[in-house]
Amino acid sequence: MSGSEGGDPRILLRGTSEYDRARRDATWNALLPDRFPEAIVQARGEADVVAAVRFAREQGLQVKARSGGHSWTASSIRDRSVLVDLGALDEIDYTPGAATVAVGPGVHGQQLNRALEDHGFFFPTGHCSTVALGGFLLQGGWGWNSRSVGPACLSIEAVDVVNAAGELIHASREENPDFWWAARGAGPGYFGIVTRFQLRLHRRPAAMRRSLYIYPLELRREVLGWAYEVGPRLAPELEFSLLATTPRPPGAAPGEKNTALIVNAHALMADADAARAALEIIDTCPVAGRALHRETQVETSFDELYSRSDAMEEKGYRWCADNVWTDAGIEDLLPAMDDLLTTVPTAVSHVLWYQWHRQEFPDAATSLQGNLYLAAYSGWTDPAEDERMVRWPRERMASLDATSNGTALADENLVARPARFMSEENERRLEQLRRRHDPDQLFASYLRGQAGHPPTIKRQGAS
Ligand SMILES: Cc1cc2nc3c(=O)[nH]c(=O)nc-3n(C[C@H](O)[C@H](O)[C@H](O)COP(=O)(O)OP(=O)(O)OC[C@H]3O[C@@H](n4cnc5c(N)ncnc54)[C@H](O)[C@@H]3O)c2cc1C
Repeated sequence: MSGSEGGDPRILLRGTSEYDRARRDATWNALLPDRFPEAIVQARGEADVVAAVRFAREQGLQVKARSGGHSWTASSIRDRSVLVDLGALDEIDYTPGAATVAVGPGVHGQQLNRALEDHGFFFPTGHCSTVALGGFLLQGGWGWNSRSVGPACLSIEAVDVVNAAGELIHASREENPDFWWAARGAGPGYFGIVTRFQLRLHRRPAAMRRSLYIYPLELRREVLGWAYEVGPRLAPELEFSLLATTPRPPGAAPGEKNTALIVNAHALMADADAARAALEIIDTCPVAGRALHRETQVETSFDELYSRSDAMEEKGYRWCADNVWTDAGIEDLLPAMDDLLTTVPTAVSHVLWYQWHRQEFPDAATSLQGNLYLAAYSGWTDPAEDERMVRWPRERMASLDATSNGTALADENLVARPARFMSEENERRLEQLRRRHDPDQLFASYLRGQAGHPPTIKRQGAS
């Protein structure tokens, strides 16, 4: 954002080669949607955002912001709209010693944690380095150590927002509280454009250690049964996940598909002895002796953790994702997981089993959770495979519907599989607030689709 009042935005109109490039670059996913904004405004500061919102209103178009473009469904790219690209609003305003920071929506997670490194604080950013704070925070923000410090949106103390009248307002618990409450979880359905977040910081974990086991897929029942049993006993500061994919070290190209089961645990704690003790539970799997590979009690850092996550979800592929929160019992989970784990379609595709630690979500639109977060991600390169690859996560997650509490907006795929993503009460409140603060629906809301879903992401509301 650098100074950040703006005043000289780049405006790209549909039908030009610059527009085509900017539209493609607006999404991290190589699978481009069949949707076309009328104009793309590359904002340099908040004045540009104000001007873009007023321009859209005058033209009878909707508006949608884009911060880092990591929405799997490219929910910012909409027909009959003005796309406001906030990537350049990437200022980090930090006073050494303070327990709060102000950031622009274009700041990437790793960028923020690097800036805080020497100051004893961290922020629970997304697990991959380039996920921007804008969309991440608004949708809930299930980040590093969120099991302990909460979803990142609960650390939003205030936001600066351009509202539907094209005014820049400040919102906090005391001032314009509707805009503050909705910023804590409304995600792609937010009725404004956030130009700046004021965030509460957390003590940086002084002890960071990790362990990893790779099991052959044949041992899935034993490993999953054990993971289900130990899950509720894990320390909140221990991140624990199972990933079904073809293992490869960071930087290595994917080879032939050979799905294995990777148990990953990260202890992010204040005390080294506590971190060591918390990780020991990972060695208790009854088939640990049959693991193909193990790395135990390795000292780690945020930079290493980001690069390990980045290796799993690489840019350049066509991606499709979907997820559920669930409290299902192991008897229901095992057959469903069997189906998921044995059908992972390509070497880069994967299934995530993430053990959540339930907590209260006060004063926030975000409201769904479950004991387990399950997500399926298909990754591929050949457009001829689009239909099959888009179908896999949707169908597999739909098969878990009966035991699901709903979906997280993080890896949502509402365009392919509309599902509950908020408590009924919060969804009702959000829609009331939208009617009050954006009666003309200037801001495009959730990208909900129909059941029948074509190969590429379906255009919505297009003429
Ligand atoms: C590789 C990868 C890793 C991920 N890891 C995690 C993870 O660890 N944890 C997690 O919770 N999620 C994760 N996600 C999901 C990601 O956090 C969400 O898709 C998030 O919305 C991305 O934010 P963005 O700004 O990059 O996305 P964008 O595509 O730019 O925006 C996403 C949505 O938010 C809206 N939006 C963005 N910024 C603003 C703003 N300033 N004002 C108003 N509306 C706005 C957009 O209009 C759009 O609808 C990951 C996604 C990817 C692709």
